[in-house]
Amino acid sequence: MLSINPDVNIVGVDRRIDAQSVENLVAQADIVLDCSDNFPTRHALNRACVRRRKPLVAGAAIRFDAQLMVFDLRRADAPCYACLFPEDGEVEEVQCSVMGVFAPLTAVIGAMQAGEAIKLLAGIGESLSGRLLILDAKSAQWRSVRVKKDPSCKICGSPLLRRANNGAGP
Ligand SMILES: [Zn+2]
Repeated sequence: MLSINPDVNIVGVDRRIDAQSVENLVAQADIVLDCSDNFPTRHALNRACVRRRKPLVAGAAIRFDAQLMVFDLRRADAPCYACLFPEDGEVEEVQCSVMGVFAPLTAVIGAMQAGEAIKLLAGIGESLSGRLLILDAKSAQWRSVRVKKDPSCKICGSPLLRRANNGAGP
């Protein structure tokens, strides 16, 4: 790989990442790709990206379904992962290790994540930011859904609005 991309510098992190270390790692990055398979990791990455204003490219695949999301958190009006999937929301945790995944899906979504990351870094074209791209591999159907910032999002929303919505506003 280095003969094809001699300028690439890979730094492996071979230890478990916790809340503090994820914050430090995200702070050093220009962009973050979430390729994890569980909500606690997804939300920890999202929180760090919101705090550090780093773009987050998240991909998910389970069975025959896949999703691709870009959260360009450099922009104040961009939604975050928690706007779409709130941390306290009732989302059923399904993991590939339990439910299985149609193997080509991970390659498709991984390649598209890489493509969106390169576009964001190079400032090319229109990013997927603000849209959720959904692939149903069984019927070979793609669709895209608009995603808006949730002003009362507990992670990226306005603190004043959040307090007001919780009935404890100033
Ligand atoms: Zn949010």
